Amino acid sequence: MTRSILRNTRLSLCFLIFLTVISGSQNNAGSTLILNARVADGTGRPLRKASVRITADHITEVGDLKPKSNEQVIDAKNLVLAPGFIDIHNHSTEGLSTDPLAESQISQGITSLVLGADGDSPWPIASYLDDRRKNPASLNIAAMAGHATIREQILQKDFRRVATDAEIAKMSELVTQAMNEGAIGLSSGLEYEVASYSDTKEVVAISAAAAKFQGAFYMTHIRDEADRSFEALKEEIEIGEKAHIPIEHSHIKLGTVGVWNKAPEYIRIIEAAQKRGVDFLADCYPYDAWHSNIKVLVPDKGWQNPKSVERALADVGGASHVTITDFSPNRSYETHTIEELARQNSITPVEMYIRMIREGDAANIEAGVIGQSMVEHDIKAFYQQPWVMVASDGGINSGHPRGAGTFPRVLGRFVREKHWLTLPEAIRKMTSLPAQRLGWKDRGTIRAGAYADLVLFNPDTVIDNATFAKPYELSSGIEKVFVNGQLVWSDNKPTGAKPGRVLLR
Ligand SMILES: [Zn+2]
Repeated sequence: MTRSILRNTRLSLCFLIFLTVISGSQNNAGSTLILNARVADGTGRPLRKASVRITADHITEVGDLKPKSNEQVIDAKNLVLAPGFIDIHNHSTEGLSTDPLAESQISQGITSLVLGADGDSPWPIASYLDDRRKNPASLNIAAMAGHATIREQILQKDFRRVATDAEIAKMSELVTQAMNEGAIGLSSGLEYEVASYSDTKEVVAISAAAAKFQGAFYMTHIRDEADRSFEALKEEIEIGEKAHIPIEHSHIKLGTVGVWNKAPEYIRIIEAAQKRGVDFLADCYPYDAWHSNIKVLVPDKGWQNPKSVERALADVGGASHVTITDFSPNRSYETHTIEELARQNSITPVEMYIRMIREGDAANIEAGVIGQSMVEHDIKAFYQQPWVMVASDGGINSGHPRGAGTFPRVLGRFVREKHWLTLPEAIRKMTSLPAQRLGWKDRGTIRAGAYADLVLFNPDTVIDNATFAKPYELSSGIEKVFVNGQLVWSDNKPTGAKPGRVLLR
């Protein structure tokens, strides 16, 4: 409640500021000079002192620049200026319609985000993108076509089986339609209920339909991120090779005790595929806990089978590693671990899990859960690969702290505190690397001619503040954010400007 009152006050304030900015920019022909910045240009090159001129929506000059008369000047005071961060895996599809200022996103420095991950996309793509054009956000968006979304269009409720050749052909037609309507690629979530019944042949066929479009790629939450991670990785590579499509591996992780510390082996398989010519990139969120639905925990689907559930809970390190985030049939479960709930109800954790499955099934709802089941050793190994980028898997109203903290967390904790990455390399992973996967040649770097999506931040203070207990806390240290040349975040609040565009391939 306090939050929304605060936000309304902020809104009216921001509106005033916005008007000032607009009238200001009319006086100086739309150009702004950012002086005294340390520029991380997104390519991974070392920081250099430079000034950057923005004219309308583009960067027009970078170098040792003097202010022109009547030009708006921003003194960067030696802070770091980077290209705007691109979040290739973001779940703000619904959030953007109610919260187009996307405060939790721009406050992290995100200037473009890609929706429709994990096989679950807006549908039809054309009408969703039209809505976003009519009601623009503070940042740019692009959308994937989702495999599960398309599968349900064809199979309806009868999805718990392998599809026929005729049905696969119909799915491929819908992929083609979505790509023609503005989807930038195809996503899948083969671990999730609807897609888990598909065979490899189906996914290869629809990926091949997407691959006919230049710049398209296949983004996937693979079939298993637990004990069968290696099998799932091999299937993913097979799909890329057979469909001749670049791969974006979503939220790379090793999520059960049985595969912990096997990142080096996992990386070797990916590098071998890259040597064979597979265009394989991955993204990783900077947390040791995932956020998903309760059924994902039990890969053999034995949700009411005590043996299966017992094994599944042991695999993530025990019932104390699983926290309920969201369960509308019984809100009292929320924020508690399965171990705590079992103790409160004087039953075993296995019985507690099965109780939640039954209560959820009765309401046709799955509990949202956070599973703390990754180890730092693997996260570090993945982040240090040049082909791994930063992505949140979060978004507006995410119940996981990654929704508000991902990018500052990498800069504050992995760069400044742990020295896992240099600052220029971390910035590359947030900018030009995702832009490379997306085929966006005019975003993701600071150079004359690129769009003016920019982030000014303090490398000494930038940090995430969102935690599992308080996932909506905004990050600190991001001073100013520009999208298409317009200031959208300044003085710790949105300016109210909504210059975001719908981006295509
Ligand atoms: Zn996912």
